[in-house]
Amino acid sequence: MTAFCAALRDTRLLPLTLIELAAAAVGSVYREVADAHCGDQPCPCGWHPRLQADLEALQAAIALSATPILQGDLVRMPVLGRA
Ligand SMILES: [Zn+2]
Repeated sequence: MTAFCAALRDTRLLPLTLIELAAAAVGSVYREVADAHCGDQPCPCGWHPRLQADLEALQAAIALSATPILQGDLVRMPVLGRA
């Protein structure tokens, strides 16, 4: 949030424009990683990109993270302190 606010202040872009740029960066990282797993000498880890399924997973992750947290939802509450 600190970096986001600093970027807003420094660029004077609209918040959604900055978020779209962040999403574009994530998409670009995905593309580079996917490309590293294709071709003549792919990464040996065994993962094979599946564009449609991978995009659905990314979109679902964004939607889950962007959805307001309902009060009482222990799964999504931030951890405070230690027990
Ligand atoms: Zn790999």
